[in-house]
Amino acid sequence: MSSYPESLKSLIEEFAHFPGIGRKTAERMAFHLLKADNKTIDRLSDALRDVKDKVSYCTVCGGMSEKEACDICTDIRRDENLLCIVENSSNIHPFERTNSYKGKYHVLGGCLSPLDGIGPDELSIDRLIERVQPGMEIIIATNPSVEGETTALYLSKLFSGQDDVTVTRLARGIPVGGNLEYVDEPTLIRAMEGRTSI
Ligand code: ZN
Repeated sequence: MSSYPESLKSLIEEFAHFPGIGRKTAERMAFHLLKADNKTIDRLSDALRDVKDKVSYCTVCGGMSEKEACDICTDIRRDENLLCIVENSSNIHPFERTNSYKGKYHVLGGCLSPLDGIGPDELSIDRLIERVQPGMEIIIATNPSVEGETTALYLSKLFSGQDDVTVTRLARGIPVGGNLEYVDEPTLIRAMEGRTSI
């Protein structure tokens, strides 16, 4: 490593900060780019800049979007009465990948964690209350961690007294402590289909 030119060393350093990328892989990625033509390098640097400049958060659901309201929120074919509540914007993608969920989403922006000072006010719960209307089913799809379960319980209590609102939770089958982002599609479809009222 020490014998590498400075610029190569710093590129390797940057890649090594990526999640799941070890030093060896970081080196391979850097060498790959070193051999790449200028067009490839331009495309990559444009993509890096664009993702930072253009991707922001939907003002309705909190999911990732390049517009004020995302494509899911503005899609009239989506079921308005089905609202899937997730912790983070990256949790929407696994459901979309299954191609079987046709409702909308609400991103909490985390989950309740009193020890870390995260209470209801730190999450987008006010906005959620505004969005929930009579006749809706809200599907709580927080992660099956202690914090995720605490949040699910809190939300179910919050909405259980509300007339004509059904609160459901994803079925078991997602490993405890697991993250929705890493759950395979058939498991997620089963968890969605087998959701139960709470
Ligand atoms: Zn949206």
